[in-house]
Amino acid sequence: MKKAQNAASFTQILMLWHDKYNIRIMPWKGEKDPYKIWLSEIILQQTRVEQGLEYFLRFIKKYPTVKKLAAAPDNEVFKLWEGLGYYSRCKNLLSAARTIATEMKGQFPEQYESILQLKGVGPYTAAAIASFAYNLPYAVVDGNVNRVLARFFGIDIAIDSTKGKALFNELAQQVLDKERSALYNQAIMDFGATVCKPQLPLCNICLLQKHCKAFLKNVVNELPVKEKKIAKKHRWFYYIVAEYNNKLLIRKRTAKDIWQNLHEFVLIETSSHQQPGEIYASAAFKILAGEKYTVLNILEGFKQQLTHQTIHASFIHIKMNKKYIPEGMEMAEKAAISKLAFPRIINDYLEKAK
Ligand code: SF4
Repeated sequence: MKKAQNAASFTQILMLWHDKYNIRIMPWKGEKDPYKIWLSEIILQQTRVEQGLEYFLRFIKKYPTVKKLAAAPDNEVFKLWEGLGYYSRCKNLLSAARTIATEMKGQFPEQYESILQLKGVGPYTAAAIASFAYNLPYAVVDGNVNRVLARFFGIDIAIDSTKGKALFNELAQQVLDKERSALYNQAIMDFGATVCKPQLPLCNICLLQKHCKAFLKNVVNELPVKEKKIAKKHRWFYYIVAEYNNKLLIRKRTAKDIWQNLHEFVLIETSSHQQPGEIYASAAFKILAGEKYTVLNILEGFKQQLTHQTIHASFIHIKMNKKYIPEGMEMAEKAAISKLAFPRIINDYLEKAK
């Protein structure tokens, strides 16, 4: 009974906060077009709002409808996505747009289950689209929501454990204001982002404070609990910018790894830092460059932080003495490579090498 009362207070106070005090401005707030909601949600996965906003506006301008996006060439869309990272999102976005255009006559699906069938759409995004576009009663559950719920209800079960996931999903659905699911989902997302923040939550001005278990027990900073600590790995990328007759060797990354569908130069990857001499002595370099080549310049110290890994990169620009195209690579005119989509670390290099 007490738990049900607490749940009711939570929803009521959260909606009150939203109505009276939520001043967070987002360009897609109140948006009812499922295509635009979907686009904003996919862009915002693993991307900060400030960074995502610019991309969202660019995409909407260039592809105002799902049909326009579906008809766009892959390379053009990837180029527009360049810099956002997590390129599988872009690949899935295109694939889903084409499914909608061809199999659904360009009509965005209107049911939660059919939205969930779209490539790259998980329960969170499906709930966001279903609630924002159609006001269907599906609660969004993500890190923000889990944090708010874990703190308010004082739950110390790991949010990433099987038991925790089931419990938080059920609780999120239970506290959802089913009549106003669009407003409620927006409220809890904004509340998690601006008041009950991961670091330094604003408990002193929080309307939920009187009922918040974590606050009352003084364990705010201990919640939520996570089971797994993600191990971060380091990778060292030595890019050989191999030039022959004003052309550069490039390839599109196709393996199931980071930066799928983006372009890169000849890559020699190692698990630790190497001196340029060690790279020249490697079999891969010798096969590529042979005995005669000219080193034009070496730029080192590039770094890109991804969620679970850190990429360290060096670029060795060489002039090849004779033409050699390794399998899977092609020669591209130097002047034309700016039209291709590259990972951010290579764009940083191109900028510096200018
Ligand atoms: Fe979050 Fe603090 Fe409010 Fe509790 S009192 S809901 S911990 S901001």
